[in-house]
Amino acid sequence: WLCGRVSACLAAVRELVSEWAPRPVVVGTALVEDGMLLAQQRRYPAHHAGSWELPGGRVEPGEGEPEAVVRECREELATEVVPLGRVGTDIPLSAGSGMSLRVWRARLAAGARPPVPVEHRALRWIELSQLVGLEWLEADRLLLDSLRRIMVAESGK
Ligand code: C5P
Repeated sequence: WLCGRVSACLAAVRELVSEWAPRPVVVGTALVEDGMLLAQQRRYPAHHAGSWELPGGRVEPGEGEPEAVVRECREELATEVVPLGRVGTDIPLSAGSGMSLRVWRARLAAGARPPVPVEHRALRWIELSQLVGLEWLEADRLLLDSLRRIMVAESGK
């Protein structure tokens, strides 16, 4: 009887802790305008400096993923975006971190200011022909096929 109570208690504690723990998701933003995709060049840490990535970052505890996309784009690009939906599959980030990259397609909100590099070295609107040649972070590179499909669909509009 006692064992049963103890294990039920432990299960309840585990459930509570997993609810409080930060969700291990990094959102990335595939911002596509006129068939071009926005990429940003990292300034730090040293082993990532010079590589390109989609804007984004960690989802904070209690925050939804679309909210995180909007917040990260405000912080990194000083602009307003509208998240439109998921792109591709989750990509596990560096071994041991337990985090994965989950990308959302987005567009600029009506009347939004043009994005500027707040924390990054540079921003670039990438054409389809430039997509593969860019030095992407490893996780972002794995999504290039999905990104290409969005760019093709958007350029046809
Ligand atoms: O930007 P921040 O350092 O918060 O990102 C957390 C982790 O997610 C880093 O390891 C970073 O390399 C990774 N990341 C990524 N691709 C992105 C954004 C972040 O691989 N587009």
